[in-house]
Amino acid sequence: MQTVWVLGAGQLGAMLQQAAYPLALRVIPLDPDDRNLPEIGDGDLVTAEREQWPETPMTTLLSQHPNFVNADVFWRIADRFHQKSLLDSLGVATAPWRDVEAETASRELHDALGEKVLLKRRTGGYDGKGQYWLDRAQPQPVPEDWRGTAIAEQKIPFMEELSLVGGRDRDGKKVFYPLTLNLHSDGILMASVAPLSRVNHLQGQAEAMLGKIMDAMSYVGVMAMECFRIDDTLIVNELAPRVHNSGHWTQAGACVSQFEMPLRAVAGLPLKAPEVRGQSAMINLIGMERETRWLEVPACQVYWYGKEVRPGRKLGHININHPETAPLHDALTALRPLLPEHYGKALDWVAEAL
Ligand code: ATP
Ligand code: MG
Repeated sequence: MQTVWVLGAGQLGAMLQQAAYPLALRVIPLDPDDRNLPEIGDGDLVTAEREQWPETPMTTLLSQHPNFVNADVFWRIADRFHQKSLLDSLGVATAPWRDVEAETASRELHDALGEKVLLKRRTGGYDGKGQYWLDRAQPQPVPEDWRGTAIAEQKIPFMEELSLVGGRDRDGKKVFYPLTLNLHSDGILMASVAPLSRVNHLQGQAEAMLGKIMDAMSYVGVMAMECFRIDDTLIVNELAPRVHNSGHWTQAGACVSQFEMPLRAVAGLPLKAPEVRGQSAMINLIGMERETRWLEVPACQVYWYGKEVRPGRKLGHININHPETAPLHDALTALRPLLPEHYGKALDWVAEAL
């Protein structure tokens, strides 16, 4: 079996490992802080399930390997300043932004970007952590610890959030999943629905944007593009050079999942446009105890990551999939009493979207 070393030892690495088996590949996730360095063979492959590459003995070892793909990608995408600059240079629409330098005044940011301005940490933010709103109605200076470490974005009055996951191989062949509709609450993904015929007319626009980005970086693997929709225009919120939470539904709803796709790409196996199976929805399991009765609900596929339970932490997800839509509604009804009460809103949102 050929070995694929994956930087990152969270649930994404574990699900890549699961997807590797039918391809006769062996995925070994690696913790960047692990001091026990593995022996990496010349013919092995190296990729990542995270964009942050802190400088450690492990990341140094991986990045020096000749089969390390996307070497020039991670630093550009992991830092919002470079990511936004890249989007601007490619002419791909993104939320208007400014760099927050040591001396930048909040007045300048409001003058350039409007009444409400969102500070985002340049690096390390996730699940809405690393965000800070400035409101001109309640003037305040840029907080000390955000100076020189953040960008500022205009508040986008979006109608909804859509994401696109695409794959690209070494020859430049690209494949895409259908656009996914996402619900976020307090900056964290709660639920996704795909496919959705009412956004089919935006698919070409989205593919052109992500295709251009992947081509520009000669990217190999799977990349996700989070977008805001304003009428029939998409603007990029952010990119992730890896499998993405909004693509988890593909485990149940596509013939090649978003976890199998990047492994095919890095191993030089054929990429095929993923045939979509029926209707899917995904519910994230956040900050709650495990409930084994989830496993009884028809049309559901449950992933529990085995992590320590903490408030606001992603601990698992449920994919709901069926050729018909009605059984998805039945599954939502069956799940409702098995999830915390505050999930009512997310379940209603999924039911409405279907
Ligand atoms: P992730 O967990 O996807 O990595 P994140 O914490 O890195 O998320 P973003 O995706 O940039 O951060 O923002 C999280 C959410 O905050 C978005 O999905 C959106 O709901 C909201 N948001 C982000 N930027 C803006 C903006 N410019 N205007 C309005 N809402 C925004
Ligand atoms: Mg995001």
